[in-house]
Amino acid sequence: MALINENYLKLPGSYLFAEIAKRVTTFKAEFPEANIIRLGIGDVTQPLTPAVVEGLHKAVDEMAHAETFRGYGPEQGYNFLIKKIIETDYRSRGVELEEDEVFVSDGSKSDVGNIQEIFGVHNKVAITDPVYPVYLDTNVMAGRTGGFSNGIFENVTYLICNAENNFVPELPTEKVDLIYLCVPNNPTGTTLSKKELKKWVDYARTNNSIILFDSAYEAYIQDPELPHSIYEIEGAKEVAIEFRSFSKTAGFTGTRCAYTVVPKTVLALTANGEKHPLNKLWNRRQTTKFNGTPYIIQKGAEATYTPEGQAQIKSVIKYYMDNARIIKEGLESIGIQTFGGVNAPYIWLKVPKGLDSWSFFDKLLHEVHIVGTPGTGFGPSGEGYFRLTAFGNKEATIEAIERIKNKLSL
Ligand code: PLP
Repeated sequence: MALINENYLKLPGSYLFAEIAKRVTTFKAEFPEANIIRLGIGDVTQPLTPAVVEGLHKAVDEMAHAETFRGYGPEQGYNFLIKKIIETDYRSRGVELEEDEVFVSDGSKSDVGNIQEIFGVHNKVAITDPVYPVYLDTNVMAGRTGGFSNGIFENVTYLICNAENNFVPELPTEKVDLIYLCVPNNPTGTTLSKKELKKWVDYARTNNSIILFDSAYEAYIQDPELPHSIYEIEGAKEVAIEFRSFSKTAGFTGTRCAYTVVPKTVLALTANGEKHPLNKLWNRRQTTKFNGTPYIIQKGAEATYTPEGQAQIKSVIKYYMDNARIIKEGLESIGIQTFGGVNAPYIWLKVPKGLDSWSFFDKLLHEVHIVGTPGTGFGPSGEGYFRLTAFGNKEATIEAIERIKNKLSL
């Protein structure tokens, strides 16, 4: 009989969102009349913008005629999109990239999950805690961690981020090889300044480590002083790979388009000590296992870069950030301590004294019929915290906060 990859068995069973769904279903069965508002999921609610829809329609029409039909495209993405990415997302912020340093894909989830394949299994991994669970789980699957006990995986360096350290991770005391940074952070909604990022770039340069920098939420940054890309930090092009997505920037969660930047200057070692560019390895991985993002979708993504396209996606982001402000101000007005929500669409709140993340979940569901996400779902340092998202529609968000303000017993 075939043998399974036993690493999969190390992953704890019931996944966070499955447990949330179970509790909501039980509640609904008991209280079918309750009008439940969901501020838990990280999915967007507003439709694709007109410029994107037009771009998609035009591309569909091209596919309908033999002269303009496209079959397999370049695995790395079409140049028309890569050029726009380089010009608009990077050159405008003083970062120069070459076209073969940008790899278009069908989503950052796959890219941040797949990237670990190009690294040896014995690398030591550091992740901020709490964070988007995909970084850790994919390293568990690959066998880069030990077993799971007392809520943590062995052989992983957890970089604690909590109110005590202002959600700024400290440099590890032991040497680590792969460092995952998510900025702005999901779930805490907090960011890192240029000075803080410089600390990590310097660490990586000194220790021959690689930074895996996920900036899926960079479009939500409002503070003009904050960096949007790790490459705004001197030396980062030697040590960092960056992930970006159209999902939250332009409502592409169901449409699927993202990109990963692997500068040719990012090197890692072979077993006999030779330096090797990671760009070549990622290119090899993608050309072997991925057949490119659909032409139609890349045309939709390209449409976000026209002047109207940019104005439209910015207005949707403003809509969500208004929700974030409403949630944050509402919670603070009743004495709940909040973090994030200013440069990111996530509000991370400290659960009231005497409760843990899951008991606050139950309280919110039962008393005011609102679904959020318990902080523990994002790592052990998420205990005692709770995530609400600004991705709902405005009316529901206002209603949810009014209920919390007026009906939640604190
Ligand atoms: N990275 C972070 C930090 C996320 O929160 C998410 C989605 O929630 C993703 C990546 C996934 O993005 P995509 O939709 O491009 O797969």
